[in-house]
Amino acid sequence: MARADRYRRQTVLPEIGRDGQKVLSGSTAVIVGLGALGCVSADLLARAGIGRLRLVDRDVVELVNLQRQTLYTEADLDRPKADVAAERLWLVNSGIDIEAVPRDLHAGTAEAVLRSADVIVDGTDNLETRYLLNEAALDARIPFVYGGAIATYGMVFGIRSPDTACFRCLTPKPPPPGALPTCDTAGILNAASAQVGALQAGEVLRMLLGVPPSGDLLVVDAWRPEIQRIRVARRSDCPACVAGERTSLGAKKSQVLVSLCGGETVSVDPRHDGDVDLDALGRRLAKVGRVRRAGSILIVDADGRHLTVFPDGRALIRGVKDEAQARSVYAKYVGV
Ligand SMILES: [Zn+2]
Repeated sequence: MARADRYRRQTVLPEIGRDGQKVLSGSTAVIVGLGALGCVSADLLARAGIGRLRLVDRDVVELVNLQRQTLYTEADLDRPKADVAAERLWLVNSGIDIEAVPRDLHAGTAEAVLRSADVIVDGTDNLETRYLLNEAALDARIPFVYGGAIATYGMVFGIRSPDTACFRCLTPKPPPPGALPTCDTAGILNAASAQVGALQAGEVLRMLLGVPPSGDLLVVDAWRPEIQRIRVARRSDCPACVAGERTSLGAKKSQVLVSLCGGETVSVDPRHDGDVDLDALGRRLAKVGRVRRAGSILIVDADGRHLTVFPDGRALIRGVKDEAQARSVYAKYVGV
């Protein structure tokens, strides 16, 4: 089949057409978080022929992910999700540009990670990153497609300020730590996360083609099943989209950022500028444990701890009981 025919089943849709396809081919979507939602939206957007996809994720593939994260297989365990997702989608569509970014997104990396984006897709699992993405989208005046799923439910909200409320209008204040259920504690139905990812991909296509956003929050119950639309008004006192505060983007660089990824894995990010010499680090750590290179990453097993070290110096540490222990393991093996 001629390459021109590749998108025929969607260009025949009056909602897209050949002109719409050209717009999609010239667009850049950044998908932040390649878990259950990001796998589905990235897959659909690659197949739909979005010209450039940037796939951002800080984690590696774990066995417990395979129940719902549809781009990965058992052969991918312990590899960076961004790399695996990009390789898989290159096989799906070689006619688009796909960039793997196995980095943590924070105030220090946001500009580089989100550069020249036409739309930002939320595949994250935490409010901190969503506030940051919301602010970056407001600054760049580009759409941000929020998505979340837990248990048998999910939510999607297509944000394009000032036509709609922003994420901060929707969630003005973060609840106290531990107040929200997580996938670890509440579980997740894969049919729920897949629906949310698919709805997000649809929102991305609509936004890129200039369709006015509905301004409604979509609430999916995948078990009943049912989808509701809830009107979300823009808050006249919103610090982000009205007052222009950039609390998350302007956050001071801390020396080491530590965050729990669920279970016993902790991410430690030294917020180092530039790459570290993983070969030299590997030689040093070979004296204290088992070390191997796997593509761009370094994997170390020492004293019952499993470390995955990325080229920018960030490490995922498994087998520690809390953040303090993670910091000390990082300092001991990698150094700050
Ligand atoms: Zn707002």
